[in-house]
Amino acid sequence: MPDGSEPAALGELARKLCEGERRALARAITLVESTRSDHQSQARALLDRILPRTGRAARVGISGVPGVGKSTFIDVFGTHLVESKRRVAVLAIDPSSSLSGGSILGDKTRMPRLTALEQAFVRPSPSQGSLGGVARRTREALLLCEAAGYDVILIETVGVGQSEFAVAGMVDVFLLLMLAGAGDELQGIKRGILELADVVAITKADGANLPRAESARAEYKAALRLLRGVDSAPDVVTVSATEQRGIDTVWDSILQHRQRLEASGELTHKRARQQKAWLHDLVEDSLKERFFAQPAVKTTLPSIERAVERGEITPTEGARRLLEL
Ligand code: GDP
Repeated sequence: MPDGSEPAALGELARKLCEGERRALARAITLVESTRSDHQSQARALLDRILPRTGRAARVGISGVPGVGKSTFIDVFGTHLVESKRRVAVLAIDPSSSLSGGSILGDKTRMPRLTALEQAFVRPSPSQGSLGGVARRTREALLLCEAAGYDVILIETVGVGQSEFAVAGMVDVFLLLMLAGAGDELQGIKRGILELADVVAITKADGANLPRAESARAEYKAALRLLRGVDSAPDVVTVSATEQRGIDTVWDSILQHRQRLEASGELTHKRARQQKAWLHDLVEDSLKERFFAQPAVKTTLPSIERAVERGEITPTEGARRLLEL
């Protein structure tokens, strides 16, 4: 856009967005992704307006290492949900995009079937900024998707580290996709990520791989019970996206987990905790931004960095001097 500098244009955008117009949603997301300060204040005004219409969707995180079959799965899974009369949005948090400027997730061409559907919305990952910045914009995009009436929001990320924690901080249910490996089932994936999972799905459970997938399922199930206890161990299921088997089992597991959270009141608590954590993230981000934008800091930082690099002063002393400015 975003040319909606005057309130009337913003009101129009909000109205179209809430009517579920995909183009308005895309423009609104572009607005929250923009780094221009006038766009950012418009984005805040827009988010304020649509806030009462948020909170109703099932928010689902999906993660797994590259090659596990995320895009194939989301294409088939999302299409299945649309066929059962749900509107589905796919967002992505992609740590590779902030490093390289290019994105390995959220690319529309990775989900051709879903992208073609009127009831689906697929948004590539924002490719600028730190993981924290990308996470903030994804959270805001999630709210916009909810206001636009999407029933299920899938947030995709790569199973390699930090971004899983960011996603876990904004969803109701976290689905981890895993490959059946040869033997060392639990070694490829960080234990911390496994602890985030609410549902685990072993992918590519088809053809010659089927027996391996089934035994991986049994192994993970046993291991997760040890790790998390019988009561809080996640469901472990097998799925084949190419043969479209187990797709509804995955959805049932997700839904059951969410219904349990809802029935116990934990969903409300969880979302409240997430809101509070988000508040803290925002404060930290903007403090940092303001600090580094100070003229005195800008001019002094390079010389202090050099002094620290050369070992002339300690990092602690360097930080003290900068903060005193
Ligand atoms: P991503 O990197 O996690 O998004 O993985 P992709 O969806 O691109 O899939 C990686 C490879 O696995 C591709 O060659 C897919 O064709 C293949 N693949 C994905 N899902 C399945 C499946 O259910 N069964 C089989 N046999 N192959 C699959």
